[in-house]
Amino acid sequence: MSYDKNNIFAKIIRGEIPCDKVYEDEHTLAFNDINPAAKVHILVIPKAEYTSFNDFAANASPEQIALFYKAVKNIAAQQGLDKTGYRLISNHGTDAYQTVEHFHVHILGGEKLAAMN
Ligand code: AMP
Repeated sequence: MSYDKNNIFAKIIRGEIPCDKVYEDEHTLAFNDINPAAKVHILVIPKAEYTSFNDFAANASPEQIALFYKAVKNIAAQQGLDKTGYRLISNHGTDAYQTVEHFHVHILGGEKLAAMN
């Protein structure tokens, strides 16, 4: 799958459409999900162009991957979720219902989430 520069998160990165930003650095942007599935629902995205987790894990450098996941951890901590717990989700492809083809990690928390089993 090739990267579509007109996907909604690419437009957010370019500042063409607004977002409710919670964190930004040189490589990473995080903002509140427009349709939250939990009391806290943050999307974390790299600014570089990767279509999904699969693409990111295959093609980003080990340093980029480490920096990204450190940022995810720091954002969760910034929200106090490291104390209460949180869930990370990253949907890849049609079976997982990925709807935006720019790699993103969902951070869900701020309340007791549904058990997964
Ligand atoms: P996924 O289904 O894993 O691809 O997740 C895409 C997520 O992006 C969904 O949870 C949407 O609610 C969210 N979303 C779509 N458009 C926006 C937007 N403009 N601002 C914030 N979140 C968005």
